[in-house]
Amino acid sequence: MTSSGLTTREGNKSDLAVRHAVALRLLAALFLIFTIAFSSPSAVSADSGDPITQADQQEQPTADAPAGAPPQRISPNTAPSRFDVEAAVREYLDRLSPQEKARSDAYFEGGYWIQFWNVLIALLVAWLLLRFGWSAAIRTRVEDWMKNRPNLTAAGYAVGYNLLVFVLTLPWTIYTDFWREHNYGLATQSFGPWFAEELVGLGVSTVGLAIFLVVIYALIRHARASWHLWGAGASIVLLALALFVSPVAIEPLFNTYKPMPDGPLKQDILSMARANGIPADQVYVVDASRQTTRISANVSGLFGTTRIALNDNLLDRGTPAEIRAVMGHEMGHYVLNHAWKFLTAFVIIIAAGFTFVKWGFARLHARHGAAWGVRDIADPAGFPLFAALLTVFFFIITPLTNTISRSAEAEADIFGLNAAMEPDGFASIAMKLSDYRKIDPGPIEEFVFYDHPSGRARVTMAMRWKAEHLKLLTALAAARDAAEKTEAPPLPDKGERRSDGSVSSDE
Ligand SMILES: [Zn+2]
Repeated sequence: MTSSGLTTREGNKSDLAVRHAVALRLLAALFLIFTIAFSSPSAVSADSGDPITQADQQEQPTADAPAGAPPQRISPNTAPSRFDVEAAVREYLDRLSPQEKARSDAYFEGGYWIQFWNVLIALLVAWLLLRFGWSAAIRTRVEDWMKNRPNLTAAGYAVGYNLLVFVLTLPWTIYTDFWREHNYGLATQSFGPWFAEELVGLGVSTVGLAIFLVVIYALIRHARASWHLWGAGASIVLLALALFVSPVAIEPLFNTYKPMPDGPLKQDILSMARANGIPADQVYVVDASRQTTRISANVSGLFGTTRIALNDNLLDRGTPAEIRAVMGHEMGHYVLNHAWKFLTAFVIIIAAGFTFVKWGFARLHARHGAAWGVRDIADPAGFPLFAALLTVFFFIITPLTNTISRSAEAEADIFGLNAAMEPDGFASIAMKLSDYRKIDPGPIEEFVFYDHPSGRARVTMAMRWKAEHLKLLTALAAARDAAEKTEAPPLPDKGERRSDGSVSSDE
C-alpha cells in the first residue's frame, strides 16, 4: 500500500490506524512505506483445506512445473539451457484468462487515479480549513481551554483537526475503502463492522497525530531555524516507536494473532527460520479474512516485538509450496534488516520533506497567513498547510519511495527463493497476486507505481532461479522419491511425522 501514504490499499491491513485521514498523510507516508514493504506476496487459489491436508500434498514442489519444465533426466552440461525460461514465464502469465487480466488491470490502474485524487482531496480539505478559518477557529478554541499551554494546545488541535478531516473525507473513504473493495470482491465486512473499525482507526490516528504535533511544534518553537532537521530525527524515533508498539498495541485492535496449528508445514517454516538464523519458535496466523480476501504475510515489530505472521487466507488457500515460498520472502525482510534500512533511508527523505515544508510554508504564509489567521509556522493553525505541502512532496517522490520499497522486495524475493527453494510455489503465488496487482505492466509504469515487483518480474525471477538450479531440484525430487520408497509406511499421525531437524520425505 502506498509510498506516498495516499495510494492503494495493499495486502497488509495493519495500516488501518492511519489510512483514512488526510490529516495523517505525514505519518501515513512513513507508516505505509513500511507496511507495504513488509506486506508480502499473497494469493488466492481455489482449493482449500486444513494445513495438515495441504502439507500432505507437498511432495510436489517441482511437480507443478509448467510444460516445458525440466526433463526427468538431465545431463549436467546441457541442463540449464534446456529449460526455456521465457516459455515457462509465458506459461505462468497465460494462467490468467483475458477476463481475469482485464479485471486485475482495472483494479490496479484505478488505484493510480485514486492516488491522484487523494492528493487533490487532501489539498481541497487543507484549503477549506484555511480559507474559511476553521483551522484558526479550532486553534483559538483549544488555546482558551488549555489556557495557552502550547503542548496541550498542539495535542488538542490534533484532535479537532483529525475529527474534522475524518468527517470531510468520509464519503471518499467509503468509496475507496469500502464500496470499491467490495465491488472487486476483496472485502468481507458489512458496513457496520467496517465503519466500527474506521472509528477505532480514527482513535489510533488521533493519538498518533497528537503525539506528533506536540513533538514537532515543540521543536519548531525551540529549534526555530533548524526545526526541520530536528523534526526529521524526531520523526524517525517516533516511527521506530510506532513499529515497536504496533504488534502489541495497534494490530490487536483489528485482528487476532494465534499460533499456527502444529503440523509438517509449520515445522518446515520453523526449520527454515532456524536455518537462516531467525530466533523464532512460533509461527503466527492472523485472521485477516475478517476484513479481506487478500492473501498476505508480514513481518512487523522492532526489537523484541518482531514477529513473522501469515494470514489465514494464505493458510487456507495457498499450497504448502506457495506458503513456504512466501514465508521465505518474509524471512528475507528480517534477515536483511530491511526495517533498519528503511529507517535510515527515511531520515534523509523526511529531512528533505521538512525542508520543502519550511520553504513552501514561508512563501505561502507571507501571502495568505493573515487571511487564514495563521500567526507563523509555530502556530498549529497552520498545520493544514504543513500537511498539504508534505502531501505534495510525497506525491512527487512517489517513484523514489516506490523504488526503495520495490528494490527491498526484490531482495526479499531472491532471499526467499534461496531459502525455500520453491520457484514454482513462488511463481504461482505471484500470479495469484493478480487479485489486486496488475501482472504485466510496462517498465515505466512499474517504476512509477509499483512498491513490489510485478507478477511478471517475479515469475521471471523464479524461473531464472529454477533454470540455474535444475540439478539441485532434480536431486531433491529424486531423494524425496527414494526416501518415500525406502521409508516405512507413513505413520498414522500424519501431522507429526517429522521431528525437528530430521530430514523427512517431503523435504
Ligand atoms: Zn515483502
